[in-house]
Amino acid sequence: MPLYKTPAIILHAFPYGEADQIVTLYTLDFGKVKGIAKGAKRSRKRFGNRLEIGSYVKVTYFEKESSGLVRLSNCDLIRPFAGLREDIHRLAWASYFIELVNEMTAEKIENKPLFRLLAAFLSLVDRGILKDEIQRVFEVRLLSCLGYRPLLDHCTRCQKKLAGEKYFFSPRGGGVLCAPCAANLPGIIPVSLGTIKTLLLAQTLTLDKVGRISFSPQSLKESQAILSAFLRQYLGKELKSKKFMEQINPPNSECGMRNAE
Ligand SMILES: [Zn+2]
Repeated sequence: MPLYKTPAIILHAFPYGEADQIVTLYTLDFGKVKGIAKGAKRSRKRFGNRLEIGSYVKVTYFEKESSGLVRLSNCDLIRPFAGLREDIHRLAWASYFIELVNEMTAEKIENKPLFRLLAAFLSLVDRGILKDEIQRVFEVRLLSCLGYRPLLDHCTRCQKKLAGEKYFFSPRGGGVLCAPCAANLPGIIPVSLGTIKTLLLAQTLTLDKVGRISFSPQSLKESQAILSAFLRQYLGKELKSKKFMEQINPPNSECGMRNAE
């Protein structure tokens, strides 16, 4: 039986029976993997309390032909990201990123850029950097990593470069439309050139600079509208973590989630 060893982020973990745990991992080398950690609740040496949502670990596992679940044999901590579980807002943000990755991916498809994206954004949340911009950048880059990059640098219908001020985003078409091409089309969302440029920057910014990005209030509003509509198309539902986030921090509240870095 081949043994696999890979860095991984815990997407989901729940108890199973007396002593076991079922876990969903996003691994660097093999994408999403579901497994069982036998005796996880008893063996501090092999698993300790490392099988927690958001933990960045190194796992060893083997595949059993008779089961759809891999069998975890060991788990070492790389970064605990303990800050994620320290307060409810950080946990909500981390859960949102984690749920997006879990819902948008199929099992056993390697995607190293997506793994690195998730690790980088969990690290931001772990450090308490909770700005709405971070969510939008995560969404737009997650879409790119999965091959659904929104087309923002020209009109997707007439192919003309963007030069005016007034544009629309078509979730169904996956990109921007100029005003003449958008006329009378259903389901399109108005978007300004400023927001388009901001999202183009968000797609290319190096991950170490993401924490410092800042959107104008208009771009925050518009990017949220277009990215939620675009994501909903692939997800087909509202995510539980998103509803939870809105409950603890309603969109119109002034309770100041724009933390300092
Ligand atoms: Zn056009």
